[in-house]
Amino acid sequence: MGVMASYCQLCGLPVQHDHYVATERPDSWNIYRSSEPSFTRPALPFGPEHGWMTEAVGLDPYEDSDPVFGKVEDGHLEDESGEPHFVCHGLEDRAVLHKACWEMAGQPRSFQTLAAAPRLHDWVLMSRYQEQLFEFEQLVKDGRAAWLIAPNLPAGAENRQRIEALLAEARRVAELPPVMKASDLPATNSWAREEVNYQDKHSFWRYRDNLARGLDLEGRAWVNFGICLPFEGLADGPHTLGLELFESKLLQAVRPLAVILACRGKVNQWDYLCYTDRVEECERAIRALEGPAVEFDHAAQPDWEFYWKHIHPHLAGRYEEVETV
Ligand SMILES: [Zn+2]
Repeated sequence: MGVMASYCQLCGLPVQHDHYVATERPDSWNIYRSSEPSFTRPALPFGPEHGWMTEAVGLDPYEDSDPVFGKVEDGHLEDESGEPHFVCHGLEDRAVLHKACWEMAGQPRSFQTLAAAPRLHDWVLMSRYQEQLFEFEQLVKDGRAAWLIAPNLPAGAENRQRIEALLAEARRVAELPPVMKASDLPATNSWAREEVNYQDKHSFWRYRDNLARGLDLEGRAWVNFGICLPFEGLADGPHTLGLELFESKLLQAVRPLAVILACRGKVNQWDYLCYTDRVEECERAIRALEGPAVEFDHAAQPDWEFYWKHIHPHLAGRYEEVETV
């Protein structure tokens, strides 16, 4: 297993300080490791308030064994007895969390009670920084340095509130029954993310992955349409932060009128595939938002082909397909 970061399955931040540091040579980086004396200076001045990120706990996804505690490097948690546990990017043989996040969650024995957390929209939005190693510098440039401060310190209040909100939403979602009616979909929250190369085009996807088995369309004419946010630049560039913040407002605005099935970021445009039986109300709610100019597209976009041909059937492997008009 090569160099990699593992991400807390509650708060989305890495469970180590390791990151790439640019050198004076172009296109050349060193790796800063928190686990060893290093000649590479970190890009950020880590202090005691950042130490919490390196204290990890590994939970059994199936409630078969007790939590293990230790440090994580390159996808492995080494527990106090020296035994390694494979956690990969965060969820494999064990689900890895910061010890501080696990304590905020009431020290659960297994991951079952928190399993919804890494599928929350706010968690998935953290993916902009979740590269092979975490993009600490970009997070700080985006004005989110407060998220790196230990949640149990007074200075970590903003981070604590962020984690408490994720925790509350994860618990709310865990209590929900399996979605059976299309009209119940807006109240749920379950997202996945994917980076895609399709027909020589690169794009970033976030999509709902809880289209439940035997979904009841209630005899209503659910239709899908596109919401387009044109902008200049690359879909994963730092300037898209404003669009991501707008996306959270967009999701709130269309609840409970519609379900955003998927979001796709590509060069110069972000698109949302929206699914509703109340198109006009939905458009009004979106137009009332402050933010970038929004375009609506009611034609069956050939651009959504990837979703319907690849993502959706993949979901349908676990769930029945939603009918589309
Ligand atoms: Zn955490």
